[in-house]
Amino acid sequence: MRRLASHRGQIKNTLTNQRFIAGIGNAYANEVLWEARLHPHRRGSTLSEVERRALYRSMRSTFEWAIQILREEVRERLYQRNEEWRAHLRVHRRTGEPCPRCGETVRGQTSGGRETNYCLRCQPLAL
Ligand SMILES: [Zn+2]
Repeated sequence: MRRLASHRGQIKNTLTNQRFIAGIGNAYANEVLWEARLHPHRRGSTLSEVERRALYRSMRSTFEWAIQILREEVRERLYQRNEEWRAHLRVHRRTGEPCPRCGETVRGQTSGGRETNYCLRCQPLAL
């Protein structure tokens, strides 16, 4: 949280920067930010302490939630080792679908081959 406060880059890029924090890829960065209700273009240095705490909690809860689902999938399905199981994700690659929290249409922007998905009602850019 302290390092994030001094980070001026967009929060989505910071989360997927493996030198800042290891282990979060593009898909789960979208999910974590949706869970935290933070717009992916917000800058780390502009987040309030409440928002930074929400982000930290969302990282933990999103991965705890996803790990459980993935474990069940591994048990129940003939699991393809190279296949990434993403049917459970809530905003990632769901452009045009309703937000599972509020029903607003999920938006998508692609940059450098990576898609950023978010709900503008749940994750407003301006405060
Ligand atoms: Zn929403």
